[in-house]
Amino acid sequence: MLFLYDVKLQIAAIVVTIYILLNYSLAKRAKSYQHRVFMIALIDAIVYLVFDIVTVYTVNHLEQVPHVLNRICHNIYLTSMTFFLVLVFVYSYIMVKGDAKVIVKSALNWMIPWLLMVIAIWIVPLDYIKGEHSNYSMGPAAYITYISVLFYFFLACNLLVRNRKSIDVPKKRLLFIAYGTQFIVLIIQAAIPDSLITSIAIIMILMAFYMTVESPDVHMIELLKAEKQSADKANRAKSDFLARMSHEIRTPINGIMGLAELIKRETNEKHSLKYAMDIEESTESLLGIINEILDSSKIESGKMQICPTEYKLQNVFNDLHTIIAVKAAEKGIKLVFDIAEDLPDYLEGDDLRIKQVLLNLLTNGVKYTPKGEVKLTVCIKEKKEQSVILHFQVSDTGIGIKEENIPKLFASFERIEESQTRYVQGTGLGMSITTQLLKLMGSELKVQSVYGQGSEFSFELQQNIVLNPVLEEKEEWDTAELKENPIRYQAPNAKVLIVDDNEINLKVFRGLLKQTKIQVFTAISAAEGLIMLKDQDFDMIFLDHMMPEMDGIEMFHKMKQESGSKYDKTPIIMLSANAIVGAKEKYLEIGFSDFLSKPVLPEKLDKLILKYLPEELISYLNS
Ligand code: ADP
Repeated sequence: MLFLYDVKLQIAAIVVTIYILLNYSLAKRAKSYQHRVFMIALIDAIVYLVFDIVTVYTVNHLEQVPHVLNRICHNIYLTSMTFFLVLVFVYSYIMVKGDAKVIVKSALNWMIPWLLMVIAIWIVPLDYIKGEHSNYSMGPAAYITYISVLFYFFLACNLLVRNRKSIDVPKKRLLFIAYGTQFIVLIIQAAIPDSLITSIAIIMILMAFYMTVESPDVHMIELLKAEKQSADKANRAKSDFLARMSHEIRTPINGIMGLAELIKRETNEKHSLKYAMDIEESTESLLGIINEILDSSKIESGKMQICPTEYKLQNVFNDLHTIIAVKAAEKGIKLVFDIAEDLPDYLEGDDLRIKQVLLNLLTNGVKYTPKGEVKLTVCIKEKKEQSVILHFQVSDTGIGIKEENIPKLFASFERIEESQTRYVQGTGLGMSITTQLLKLMGSELKVQSVYGQGSEFSFELQQNIVLNPVLEEKEEWDTAELKENPIRYQAPNAKVLIVDDNEINLKVFRGLLKQTKIQVFTAISAAEGLIMLKDQDFDMIFLDHMMPEMDGIEMFHKMKQESGSKYDKTPIIMLSANAIVGAKEKYLEIGFSDFLSKPVLPEKLDKLILKYLPEELISYLNS
C-alpha cells in the first residue's frame, strides 16, 4: 500500500493519458504526420509512466530484483523519457510550420544526437542512491538523460518562440503554461531527485496539445474555419466575376440599343420600326437585370456606397410616378401616391438609392398585383430642427406572401411561389438589394402580408433638412420630356471628336448625330485620338474611359500636358459604362466637363450637345 502511495502521481497520469488516447483513437481523424506523432507520444508516455512505476519498485527492492532487470527497466524508463521530448519537438515543428516534409527530410540531423545519447544511456553506469524517503537513480546515465531532455526541450522552445507570430493567442497561452510547467518541474526534479514529479510535466504537455489542437472539437472548429474561408473566397470571386461581367455586357448592349435607335430614326417601314422598338424594349429589360446583378455584387463585395447630396423630395416622387404610372396603366391597376403636405422641400441624403428602393417596391407591387391598387404613402414620423424621420409605405392588393415565405424574400436569387410568379419577369435580386441598401442607410424593411389579399412594405429614413438649398441650376430640358418631344437641331459647322475602342459604339455615335449634320470624327484608340487632336480643332470631345493601352483619363492628362491651356475652353465629356455611385463626381474632379453614361441614350446625348456646343453653331429646326 505504501508503494502505491509513492506512485499515486504516475497512476493519475496514466489514467489521464489512457483517457486521451481512447478519446483520440475513437475520433477517427485524418492520419496526418502531426496526428501520428501525437499518437506515438501518447503511447510513449504510457510506456514511460509504467516504467516510472516499475523502477520506483525495483530501485526500492534492490535485494530482491536482479541487477540486470533493474537496469533494463531503468534504461527503458530513461529512453522513453528522452524519446518523449524528441516527439514533442517534432510535433511542435509540424504544428508551427504546418508541413511535415522538412522535418522528415532532416530526420537524421535531429535523430542522431538522440540515438547517440540513448546508446550512452544504455552503456554508461547508473547509480542507485538511498534517499531520505525512498531510493532513486543517479549517476552518468541519469545525467545524459537530463542533457537529452533539456536539449530537445530548448529546441522546441526556441522553435515556438521564433515562430510565435504564426501561433494564435489561445494556443500560445496554453503552450506557455505547458512549457513553463515543464521547465519548473525539470528544475525541481534536478534539485530534489527523489521528488519523482516528471509525470506532471508529461501530462501538462499532452493536455496542452490535446486541448489546443487534437481534441475533436478543436479539430471541428478548425475544419469549419477553413470551410468558411474557402466559401468566403469563392463568394468574393463570384461577386467580382459578376461585377466584371455585367460591366462588360453593358458595352455590347450599348451597341444594340444604339443600332435599334438608328433603325427607328432611318426607317419608314412599319415592320422594321416595330422590330426596332421590340429590340429596344428587350435590351432595356436586359440592362435592368445587368444593373441589378452589378448592384448586388457591389453590395456583397462591400463596394456599394451611400453618397448623400442635396435633393428635392418632390422630384423623387415625380420621377417614380412617371416610371410606374405607365406600368400600372398597362395592367389596369390604380396607382395612388399619398404624400403628406408638410414634408420638407429639400433634404440631404442619397436620393438615387432612395428612388431605387421605392422603385423596387413599387415595381414589385405592380408586378404581383393582378387587380386593385398599389399605393405609396409618405409622412413624417418625427421632425427636429435639422432632421426629419420619414415613414415610407408601399402597399398593394396583390397575391400576398405566406408568412413562412417572408424570410425568403430577402435572399438573393430567391423567388417565392414560382408556380404563380413564373410568368412575371424577375431575378429574385430586387428585394435583397432593397434591404441591403436600406441597411446601408441605417434603416430596415418591415413586411406585412396576407396571402391572397396583399402586402405592405414599410421603412423609416432619417434625412437632414436643407434650409438654404444650393442645388444645381435646374436642367434646361427634362430628359423624359425630351424623349417625347425631341428638339430638332442642326450644327453643320460643329466638329466633334469621339474616342472609343469599340467600333460599334463609334458607328452608333455617328448614326445618332447624323441628322444634326455635326461633323463627327472618330478615333479607335487614345493614341489615334491624340494624333487627330494635333491636326484639327474640335468644339467638343468625348472620351471613353476603358480603353486598352491608354485609357480616357490618361489621354485627358496627356492632352493637357501636351497642349497646355489649348483645351481649357473645350468641353471634354467622359463616356463610360461605369455606373458606380460617385463616378460622375470623380470625373468632374479630374477636370472633365461632364459625364455621359453608356449605353448612350439619344435624348441625353442631345441634351449634352445643346448644353455645351457654342450657341452660334446651333440652328433649331422645331417650329
Ligand atoms: P423578383 O425580381 O423576382 O421580383 P424580388 O427580390 O424583387 O425579385 O422579389 C422576390 C420575390 O418576392 C418575388 O419573386 C415574389 O415572389 C415576392 N414578392 C416581392 N414583392 C411582392 C409583392 N408585393 N407581393 C407578392 N410577392 C412579392
